[in-house]
Amino acid sequence: MARYIFITGGVVSSLGKGLASAALGALLQARGYSVRLRKLDPYLNVDPGTMSPFEHGEVFVTDDGAETDLDLGHYERFTGVAARQTDSISSGRVYSNVLEKERRGDYLGKTIQVIPHVTNEIKDFINIGDEEVDFMLCEIGGTVGDIEGLPFFEAIRQFAQDKPRGQCIFMHLTLLPWLAASGELKTKPTQHSVKELRSIGLQPDILVCRSEQPIPDKEREKLALFCNVRPESVIAAYDLKSIYEAPLAYHREGLDQAVLDAFQIAPAPRPDLTVWQDVSDRIHNTDGSVNIAVVGKYTQLEDAYKSIKEALIHGGMANRIKVNVEWVDAEVFDKDDAAPHLEGYHAILVPGGFGERGTEGKIKAAEFARTRKIPYLGICLGMQMAVIEAARNLAGLSDAGSEEFDHEAGEKRFEPVVYHLKEWVQGNHQVKRSVGDDKGGTMRLGAYTASLAEGSKVAQVYGDTTIEERHRHRYEVDVAYRDKLEECGLQFSGMSPDGRLPEIVEVKDHPWFIGVQFHPELKSKPFDPHPLFKDFVRAAKEVSRLV
Ligand code: GLN
Repeated sequence: MARYIFITGGVVSSLGKGLASAALGALLQARGYSVRLRKLDPYLNVDPGTMSPFEHGEVFVTDDGAETDLDLGHYERFTGVAARQTDSISSGRVYSNVLEKERRGDYLGKTIQVIPHVTNEIKDFINIGDEEVDFMLCEIGGTVGDIEGLPFFEAIRQFAQDKPRGQCIFMHLTLLPWLAASGELKTKPTQHSVKELRSIGLQPDILVCRSEQPIPDKEREKLALFCNVRPESVIAAYDLKSIYEAPLAYHREGLDQAVLDAFQIAPAPRPDLTVWQDVSDRIHNTDGSVNIAVVGKYTQLEDAYKSIKEALIHGGMANRIKVNVEWVDAEVFDKDDAAPHLEGYHAILVPGGFGERGTEGKIKAAEFARTRKIPYLGICLGMQMAVIEAARNLAGLSDAGSEEFDHEAGEKRFEPVVYHLKEWVQGNHQVKRSVGDDKGGTMRLGAYTASLAEGSKVAQVYGDTTIEERHRHRYEVDVAYRDKLEECGLQFSGMSPDGRLPEIVEVKDHPWFIGVQFHPELKSKPFDPHPLFKDFVRAAKEVSRLV
């Protein structure tokens, strides 16, 4: 049976609950335990798949095809444990399951209520895979006091009550605001937040306090006294240069020890932190820097490309170089010359995206990178744009475009070099879709295998000819154009095993130009950088050394 750690937040949102959870997961692993991390989100969307990246940041996709919260990305990056569909649940999913059961007659004769039907559904979810790991870490999204969060708080209260004593602990993350005028750290908001938690039956065992200033002993004792926790369980969380310092920083503050103490695990196994010491060394000891342009649409909100930014940083760590990621809005040069906006960068990355807005700019970015021989990495839409660019400018198909844009506009304007995929093979079964399908959860999602051409650049980068990567897209490059494009120098160097779906393209006569239909950024880790990002940053480093 697993031990459970429930992580809640108070005072304000965006305190880094996900990061604290992920770092704690990594510290427990360093002590030899197995962990799994879960996210329980109170919003009513069934999953974040249909939310705008502007609102919610990136959608993180799991191997088994779930569209989940970006915190699951943090979990994977810190623990290396691949997230699953069953690690992410929202109120929307909970209610939809409960209502489905009600219609089916599973509760025949009963009145369906939040307690017990909704809370039971949540508890069943938390319990999945209980026997597989030593620790299950469950983060509750939002902040204590939110109306939507109540069923989740009630469910974890009941859950801890159902389990044997000592099997579950609660960790609460808050903020200690700093009043510069009086030079004081204020504990009152934390006291109120804990009061709120206790009023619904939850007593935190550990308090993690975000603070810009060192927490004096006096304040620590006050927090302990008023919030009913032990002084050594008040853990300070200071701002860090890099998120990857979080495991070492939390360890220094005694978080993992406090957690093991709360479970009364003694003696505590000694931690082996060498992985994180190496990561920290790579952040602090770099030789020079590279400037990489990410040419996208959701550039105002960095979280929209969270995993890409992190994967680039990992690539930098592998090469011991600092990566400066610059966000460039593609729409700005939709109609103008791209060169003034892109000159001077050591590499260009065009990320995934949806809809036509900004795509002419992205096509120009691909052209700029191809003709100026600047390293280019196109991800999903970024690969589709590179193919359209080659079709227009190398193969002479001046109307080349994507059916996605025609569908959006409701008229036919382009030759569909990229078309709506309606049938494909997943494992050993056939998947079918049509244009009018529901928008949620109907894309080509999750892990698929690709076969790489012997002797290709990507085969060399991966050091393998069979790979598995995660997908999230509805449209696909049409293999019918393969011969024509290959004659012009765009090699289709990665294909689905049945040879029907182009997975990777590369420009032959170019130092580094690769487009991939999948999302390699989702699998990169600081201690195990993704080969594509590692080599892309290496290529950028080479360019930077030439100028
Ligand atoms: N909009 C494109 C498609 O659906 C690309 C999606 C993406 O970049 N993730 O195929």
